Amino acid sequence: MRETIVAGNWKMNTTIADAMAIVGGVLRRNDEFGRVKVIFLPPSIWLVPIKERYRSATLGAQNIYSHLRGPYTGELSVEMLHAIAKYVLVGHSERRTVFGEDHALINAKLKTVLQANLRPILAVGEEAKLNIGKKEKRDILALVKKSELGRSLVSATRGLSHSQWSKMVLAYEPVWAIGSGQAASGNYANSIIGALRAMVVQLANDKVATNIPILYGGSVSRYTAPDFAQFENIDGVLVGNASLRVAEFSNIIEIFALARARRKNENSA
Ligand code: PEP
Repeated sequence: MRETIVAGNWKMNTTIADAMAIVGGVLRRNDEFGRVKVIFLPPSIWLVPIKERYRSATLGAQNIYSHLRGPYTGELSVEMLHAIAKYVLVGHSERRTVFGEDHALINAKLKTVLQANLRPILAVGEEAKLNIGKKEKRDILALVKKSELGRSLVSATRGLSHSQWSKMVLAYEPVWAIGSGQAASGNYANSIIGALRAMVVQLANDKVATNIPILYGGSVSRYTAPDFAQFENIDGVLVGNASLRVAEFSNIIEIFALARARRKNENSA
């Protein structure tokens, strides 16, 4: 069974007091962590104090630079994250649009993260909703492959070895859904994630595609989470806004933990 992951991207939000309250609150409220991997992606300045207070928290950085050290004012290197964070978010649409990150930089960052033995969460997504209508799987795959979504997956992962692929987490984040309050439907996300998994078969191989966790992100809330959790192909969620609220984020974790337990029972029955 693939990993189930619920990750919270706090973006440029929280004070140190908020950061401690969120991580402490979520860790206290959830005894479901054995089944769901919960990853906190706070602003990088809070990574060390959070780790010092909560050793068991799994942390990720929202961003790193592609070089290891040098004259890059304001940037953070993977070397600084060792023993603190295990994951790094790469390719988030806000990095692409607000900070002008292009495919080449995203590919370089991905390789830097992998070479440092950290796990990248690679975010890809389309600007405008794709017209999948009632199309067959193979037609959806063709549509995704020629869209910017498919092209960004190809360029971000160019030159990766199969063993590097096997450390990756993918996050399908339609740009039109991020921060809009309008999540994609579970059906739509499931179809696109199916196509992305089929692309991974071609870009890497069957084994990588079967094992790679692919998350959905974009306006996930306690209300929309069940719609994603029902699909076996959707391995969890990347949550922005709702990850800042302890009760709601905990609720989302619980929804995925229960869905995972249900699936496990069904598979063993
Ligand atoms: C995100 O920024 O990765 C995200 C999914 O944000 P939100 O949940 O707020 O749409």
